[in-house]
Amino acid sequence: MKSNSFCTLAEKDAEYFAERPNKFEMVSCPKKERNCKNYLKEINNRYLESEIYRENKEYQNSIAALKNAFNYTTELKESPCNKCAEFFQTNIVQSLESIHHEIHKMSVGLFRTKRYNLSYLIAGDVLNELKIAATDFKKLKMKRA
Ligand SMILES: [Zn+2]
Repeated sequence: MKSNSFCTLAEKDAEYFAERPNKFEMVSCPKKERNCKNYLKEINNRYLESEIYRENKEYQNSIAALKNAFNYTTELKESPCNKCAEFFQTNIVQSLESIHHEIHKMSVGLFRTKRYNLSYLIAGDVLNELKIAATDFKKLKMKRA
């Protein structure tokens, strides 16, 4: 079990984890779907994982965790509640934009470093990918409505 990097991270940061507020705590499902509450918990876990990686400047892992969270929201497609799915997706895309910007700032100016060049490219690619996926999701929803 120790070889699982998430497990190790979770162990190391167990206290840290506990002190953190959930990213999406404030959201309340307009349809009061019980399903959405379960999703919320899962997405918050992935989100938290991403934030911790980001603070450790492990950007590629951080981006992967966000992508993972996003992919999870597309499973909401089968549920009647698209409002929650869109809310999650918008926030995840915004976070990724913020990571993208953060990495960019390190590649310019006095203390620039090339260390995160690959992460920057990956962030840009995933950002485009998720934006397209979010647009497709909305289109699909409109078609069904
Ligand atoms: Zn909902």
